[in-house]
Amino acid sequence: MGNYTLGIIKPDAISKNYTGKIIDRLLNSGFKIVAARLEHLSREQAKQFYAVHKERPFFNDLINFMTSGPCLPFVIEHENAVENFRKIIGATNPAEAAKGTIRRDFAESIQNNAVHGSDSDKNAEKEIAFFFIPSQIHTV
Ligand code: ADP
Ligand code: MG
Repeated sequence: MGNYTLGIIKPDAISKNYTGKIIDRLLNSGFKIVAARLEHLSREQAKQFYAVHKERPFFNDLINFMTSGPCLPFVIEHENAVENFRKIIGATNPAEAAKGTIRRDFAESIQNNAVHGSDSDKNAEKEIAFFFIPSQIHTV
């Protein structure tokens, strides 16, 4: 299992000033931030990032949401990073997310769900490269 994953604090959580609280959660869970940058995605970038969902009925709304304001992509380090980060994020739908998870506590809906986390090591690698070049990733 890989040691890195890509996360995003989504525009809903940024605009509600949850950034610090979410970062606090992941640091307290043992993740180390090795890259981060505030970024307002273009429609093209958002469509490319979520290309796997392009046939889904919610795709256009998802692109509107993800481009509605700045978001904060980051790379974090932890043993078995993908699985462990998905665990502290919680289910996609905050109504179904476990107690104490980031989405349960900070998400407003299945769409505006506060954070993204890569779902496999292969996708983590792709998504990290989507946002960061190697010199921007501060691993030791
Ligand atoms: P996850 O982010 O938990 O991996 P998915 O990859 O299935 O979830 O979906 C990507 C994103 O698309 C979700 O985080 C959410 O913002 C949005 N989304 C997923 N399912 C729905 C839905 N049924 N209605 C509206 N938006 C959705
Ligand atoms: Mg996903």
